[in-house]
Amino acid sequence: MAAVAGVDVGGTNITAARVEGGAVTLREKRATPHTGPDAVRDAIAEAVRALGEVDAVGVGVPGPVGRDGVVHSTANIGGFDEPTPIGSMISDALGGLPVGVGNDANLGALGEVRHGAGQGSRFLLAVWLGTGVGGGLVLDGQPYIGAFGGAGEVGHMVAVPGGAECSCGRRGCLEAYAGRSGMERAARLAAANGEETRLIKAGKADQPIKSGRWAKAVAKGDPVATRLLDDAVRALGHTLGSLINLLDVDTIVFGGGLTEKLGQPLIDRIAEATHPVVMLPHRRRSMVEAALGDDAGVLGAAEYALSQRRG
Ligand SMILES: [Zn+2]
Repeated sequence: MAAVAGVDVGGTNITAARVEGGAVTLREKRATPHTGPDAVRDAIAEAVRALGEVDAVGVGVPGPVGRDGVVHSTANIGGFDEPTPIGSMISDALGGLPVGVGNDANLGALGEVRHGAGQGSRFLLAVWLGTGVGGGLVLDGQPYIGAFGGAGEVGHMVAVPGGAECSCGRRGCLEAYAGRSGMERAARLAAANGEETRLIKAGKADQPIKSGRWAKAVAKGDPVATRLLDDAVRALGHTLGSLINLLDVDTIVFGGGLTEKLGQPLIDRIAEATHPVVMLPHRRRSMVEAALGDDAGVLGAAEYALSQRRG
């Protein structure tokens, strides 16, 4: 049976997995270098070599990637300031092994549709609720990356025209309302304006507000946390409802830290919030929690490597 390597490049770690028959059989981790593409290529190549012999490599990176394996930009990894042909660089370092490179959120969607919560779906949207809001599309059974590799940026759909500042430098993006860093910024602003909230702990005000703390604060009825989560749900309802009208997906899979902590009750609220927007309500459209956790990325990358080989 063919063994392929699935690689997930994050801002902190590079995870490489040996995948056989759709299952991870070996895993290698390396710290992500922030000193430029050569160092990243070397770290990926080293991790893949440590997995033993493989037939192909799939790599997911946080940023738009063209069909040619050129990474156009990535905010999370230092040193990628210009378009970088990382696919061919890794292939050269691995003696010409076939290498497919894609956007991590898109490949995560592919992982969920082939091996996770999206199995059986042909039209799937994956939404990752983490520090930011990532998205990936599988349309008619195939990963959809658009003309220039930039499709699936759900987090930067405009939820509120002229609204809150987003990490991308624009205004009113979904991510500014439903991404953890945007929500944290709003919470800190509320606290600075004198609102009481258990989101920001006395003496630990500088610590990032993790998903678990959001979940706890909402469970205790904290007014700031409740209001900001309501804002997030409303923004998600508008944008995902619009997306359903455009694409008529049969399944939306939700993953990421906030989903893991708040689970199906959060997803049901988001589903409810799409209803006023959706033109073709359908009971059988499923909105569910992702099943693969952190493995969605490496399994999706491995699937992508296999599909590239099949041509
Ligand atoms: Zn944005």
